[in-house]
Amino acid sequence: MIKFLDLEKINNRFRDEIDLRIKTILDKGWYLQGEENEIFARNFAKFCGTKYCIGVANGLDAINLIIRAYGFKEGDEIIVPSNTYIATILAISENGCIPVLVEPDINTYNINPDLIEEKITPKTKAIIVVHLYGQAVQMDKVWEIAKKYNLKVIEDSAQAHGAVYKNKRVGNLSDASAFSFYPGKNLGCMGDGGCVTTNDEELFKKVKAIANYGSDRKYHHIYKGVNSRLDEIQAAVLDVKLKYLDEDNKKRREISKYYRENIRNPKIILPKTYDENSHVWHVFAVRTENRDEFQKYLTDNGIQTIIHYPTPPHKQEAYREWNNLSYPISEEIHSTIISIPVSPVMTNDEIEKVVEVVNEY
Ligand SMILES: *Cc1c(COP(=O)(O)O)cnc(C)c1O
Repeated sequence: MIKFLDLEKINNRFRDEIDLRIKTILDKGWYLQGEENEIFARNFAKFCGTKYCIGVANGLDAINLIIRAYGFKEGDEIIVPSNTYIATILAISENGCIPVLVEPDINTYNINPDLIEEKITPKTKAIIVVHLYGQAVQMDKVWEIAKKYNLKVIEDSAQAHGAVYKNKRVGNLSDASAFSFYPGKNLGCMGDGGCVTTNDEELFKKVKAIANYGSDRKYHHIYKGVNSRLDEIQAAVLDVKLKYLDEDNKKRREISKYYRENIRNPKIILPKTYDENSHVWHVFAVRTENRDEFQKYLTDNGIQTIIHYPTPPHKQEAYREWNNLSYPISEEIHSTIISIPVSPVMTNDEIEKVVEVVNEY
């Protein structure tokens, strides 16, 4: 079976380095908010090109904390793509704000910037973009609208560590960006993890304090905060893996290019990209009419696949109030999409086999 993502193989490449870093932590006996967090935050901020980075417990918390720190409240509207992993929308709801869904572009699967302006009202406070499947959103139009209406722009970069738009990395394309380090992401730790990157000093300080019991110094609480911290072991693991992220993303690009040049099957719609650097291929999502049949065919032929995602957020039970609404482009994507394996540890034989099997469908 060609695995969708062989996490064991991915992480074992760095086993010696990771062992050493964890041993150092054990020797020191310091597990939270220490040197490893400082080192990783500094290196990840540098990688993204931002002034600040703060490690938090997971990607959902990262989005949550940004929304809370900007002070968006009950009834404030926040623009978000209708086609995303539900976390982006949950973070808006959790703060009592209203998610205003905007349809994606069928060619990129990312929010369609041309449909944003018509959704803006006097209550709109921010636009959250999601660099879905690893592809940076075309930000020009988003920035233009945000400037015109005085809105904050927030990135959900959970799937796009390292992607580049106009010579800037994802994470540095907005007022503040959320990352997830869930094990399967392009930069993943060995448990839960996330971070916020920003150039906004005030936001940085606020997120840092809120995530640590609302405390700016020990036993001094200025916000009714939460506990959302990245532990030292995860920070160390991430700092090791960060060094190889560009190389891993390059491998993903090569595989994706090979797929796009060699998969020739009229039943399969291949993903599109604006330019090679804008995409880090967190997943290689194709579309096909009889998706479930195609998935079974691939499984029967030894290829593991995942569907990102089978049900759009507005059709989920959690958002009953939206179940009757219609977002036809999102629905079309969710009912036809399927992700085939792409990962930095795939062998040439595996890559060729995927192409062969898909072409024979
Ligand atoms: C993974 C993911 C998240 C959530 O990250 P967690 O670390 O699992 O909380 C948020 N948004 C998107 C687009 C994601 O893919």
